[in-house]
Amino acid sequence: MSEPLVLVAGAGGFIGGHFLATLHRKGGMRLRAVDIKPLTAWLQPPPAGVEAWTADLREIAACRRATAGAGTVYNLAADMGGMGFIETHKTACMLNVLINTHVLMAAQEAGVARFFFASSACVYAADKQLTPQIPPLREGDAYPAMPEDGYGWEKLYSERMCRHFREDFGLATRVARYHNVYGTHETYDGGREKAPAAICRKVAQAKLSGRPEIEIWGDGEQTRSFTFIDDCVRGTQLVMDGTFAEPVNVGSAEMVTINQLVSIVEEIGGVKLRRSYNLDAPRGVRGRNSDNTLIQSLYGWQPATSLRTGIEALYRWIYDRLAAGRI
Ligand code: NAD
Repeated sequence: MSEPLVLVAGAGGFIGGHFLATLHRKGGMRLRAVDIKPLTAWLQPPPAGVEAWTADLREIAACRRATAGAGTVYNLAADMGGMGFIETHKTACMLNVLINTHVLMAAQEAGVARFFFASSACVYAADKQLTPQIPPLREGDAYPAMPEDGYGWEKLYSERMCRHFREDFGLATRVARYHNVYGTHETYDGGREKAPAAICRKVAQAKLSGRPEIEIWGDGEQTRSFTFIDDCVRGTQLVMDGTFAEPVNVGSAEMVTINQLVSIVEEIGGVKLRRSYNLDAPRGVRGRNSDNTLIQSLYGWQPATSLRTGIEALYRWIYDRLAAGRI
């Protein structure tokens, strides 16, 4: 009998690329990897033996081809980026509903046994994130709903669609709410980068150019937690394999201010920079952290990589690329 077929949608992206590599190392399955980007633009080239191709998963015909014969689907495809992208591309973010709807429809038609959807901490209600020192967000805090405009509303809607496909058609869906994932092979320039990569890039550029300055978006006192990619991959696998079908936080509970994050990166880079604050730049919510009671009670696990350890890996990766002139 041939090995089961697993589809990774969005495999040309940051999390998809890492996840595909992890599944490939694990072995025991056939892998199909799909992304809208040409293969040359994938953040990590697909490992040998993976069936990898380019398709626009907003189209149902492409989704039908992608899910044909698959037993398991990881849907990590989305048109997205950091706050600088999602605050200025709300329509594009809302149109991700086409990907999420059509991949679900095609998966159900194809008789897929298990389906994963990558949701986000951006589904959480705005009024629970008004101050830097907020209590960590529990899964129930998504309701009453007032998520991030555009991107967050679409994620919340698609979470619910997963639930209805499960209830109405028996498709076993699993949903993780990722909190600010970072790590090597992520986008670090061009407008889609997120805070950790942007800050690592700015510190590395300051070091390489000898100009000891950094611009920070907002006043730097907004709080966040950042989840290292290895923890994200592990959490995804636990949520996917687990019995719990409602959304689960996959996020670090180590909360820092953006100013503290900058200090950590400065320390790793061995520089001290003059800080200027751009109060007109996109900032997102004032405070956000992950409550991990649920994932801990379900799976006896939560993200554990310290920010210092994870950020060092990201900083070194970005620094080396900038130093080699691959800006
Ligand atoms: P990413 O942008 O690096 O990867 C997403 C991939 O989806 C990209 O390679 C993109 O080309 C692909 N894609 C976009 N439109 C497509 C289409 N129409 N058809 C096929 N592929 C398409 O983002 P990521 O950080 O890897 O995120 C993966 C998933 O996790 C996304 O759903 C994202 O919303 C979610 N998420 C990520 C974070 C984070 O911090 N990175 C946080 C919360 C949720």
